[in-house]
Amino acid sequence: MIIDLKAISIIKINSTNTKTAFFGFKTKQRPFTIFGPCSAESEIQLLETAKALKTHFNQNLFRAGVWKPRTRPGSFEGAGLEALNWLQTVKQETGFPVATEVANTAHVEACLRAGIDVVWIGARTTVNPFQVQEIADALQGSGVGVMVKNPINPDINLWLGAIERIQKVGIQEVAAIHRGFQTSEQSVYRYPPHWHMAIEFKRQRNDIPVITDCSHIAGTPELIPVIAQKSMDLAMDGLMIETHINPKVALSDAKQQITPDLLSQIFDELLIRQINSADDQLVTTLETIRALIDDADDQMIRSLLNRIELVNQIGQFKKDKNITIFQVERWKTIFDRQIQFAKETGINADFIEKLYRIIHEESIRIQNEIFNQPDKSSN
Ligand code: PEP
Ligand code: MN
Repeated sequence: MIIDLKAISIIKINSTNTKTAFFGFKTKQRPFTIFGPCSAESEIQLLETAKALKTHFNQNLFRAGVWKPRTRPGSFEGAGLEALNWLQTVKQETGFPVATEVANTAHVEACLRAGIDVVWIGARTTVNPFQVQEIADALQGSGVGVMVKNPINPDINLWLGAIERIQKVGIQEVAAIHRGFQTSEQSVYRYPPHWHMAIEFKRQRNDIPVITDCSHIAGTPELIPVIAQKSMDLAMDGLMIETHINPKVALSDAKQQITPDLLSQIFDELLIRQINSADDQLVTTLETIRALIDDADDQMIRSLLNRIELVNQIGQFKKDKNITIFQVERWKTIFDRQIQFAKETGINADFIEKLYRIIHEESIRIQNEIFNQPDKSSN
């Protein structure tokens, strides 16, 4: 196939500058960072953490939970109202804007009175549209930034819906936080990321920055660098990482918090790949390969169409000859043959297995439809 390079090079890669300005920072400042402890425990803990962060990072949105949603009562539930003053002190002393979690109207009102710059809606709150709406109504008319964590269950519409509720009351600065999902699967992660959810979020709302909450996905410091790198490789916009001056004595999420020094080391090793490029040569090469991929995709659809036509033929034949749709031996043969073929070519056999299950399911559906059609000869 001959590719017209001139035609291709004018297709520019999407610009990131169309994103919502988030809290005065354009997302072209990438990664947007949100560092600070899981919870505000004392003024000294906040100040020491923030000052240590300041030695490494010039800009940062400083996070600390003031009201903590705990699974069972009795654990540390946050320092409450007085911690809002500590956040103010952090802001004065370091210049970092400050953020905390809100879960009800009273929280929002207290944050607005205390001049908190950004609030976030936690994963346990995003699941409840009534609660999100109440928070949105309380935020109306304020100039604060709002971040919405994904709901604990992997439901993209709840996440998108919460963002829409916040935007509908006129809040301009909105971001999404991807913090992973609670599922029954065994996993090395505390909350498995299901990256496709963040990707789907971006596909639907590329105007909203997506920030990866590495700490809640990881649950342990060792996984944080890998998750942060993956976030950057997948073109996410920012990183939230829980940071504590002395994680061992943290009153919540002690197992996953890291020191500002360790965070700085992780950052030194992080590769920030660019989302797009002004380099014409690079854009042209990328677009050329993309054109070839599009062509391969078209061929794949044509092959599938060809297969579907044959399935229609065989379905009609089986019906006419009174033979069952499903023939177990034939299915085993196809399955083994294609997996063997995949192995020989070097394609991942698991992928081909999944693909063939879908193809076979569709083949059965089509043949069922043929079997259920009234007989042509019966009139
Ligand atoms: C947090 O950020 O400390 C927190 C409670 O997060 P999540 O709502 O994601 O569980
Ligand atoms: Mn936490």
